[in-house]
Amino acid sequence: MFCPFCNTEDTKVIDSRLVANGAQVRRRRECLVCKERYTTFETAELLMPRVIKKDGKRSPFDEEKLRNGLSRALQKRPVSEEQFESLVARILHKLSSTGEREISSESIGGIVLSELSPIDEVAYIRFASVYRSFQDIQAFKEIVLGMETQEPTRGES
Ligand SMILES: [Zn+2]
Repeated sequence: MFCPFCNTEDTKVIDSRLVANGAQVRRRRECLVCKERYTTFETAELLMPRVIKKDGKRSPFDEEKLRNGLSRALQKRPVSEEQFESLVARILHKLSSTGEREISSESIGGIVLSELSPIDEVAYIRFASVYRSFQDIQAFKEIVLGMETQEPTRGES
């Protein structure tokens, strides 16, 4: 990378560390010619697929909407801010790593549910009931039964 002071191409990294919980790399660089020092930040660019809505319309992926949906599902549930953030990060990562340019809102719901399920059962059911807008009580029962068979040892609390 070119030195911002003298435009020389030869700069050297003198320090490199992870910041922002590992989401960013901060590098101190020194120009080999003018000896000026400067800092660069490196962040992975996540390319999110576009969302195909139920009516077939396309819209850009909206992280805020995802966060709102998750907050509603997790309202008053014993889930920490940290768990919440890592949940969001995992969902974003899954979405960006599908390699698809477009993804249906239904598929997004499926990804969210698969990540939500091990974290909180109540939130899972809340999210599922909104996302899948259960057509009939049978579908709802299947989801609840599916959860029970996944975790047979969990007792009442
Ligand atoms: Zn320089």
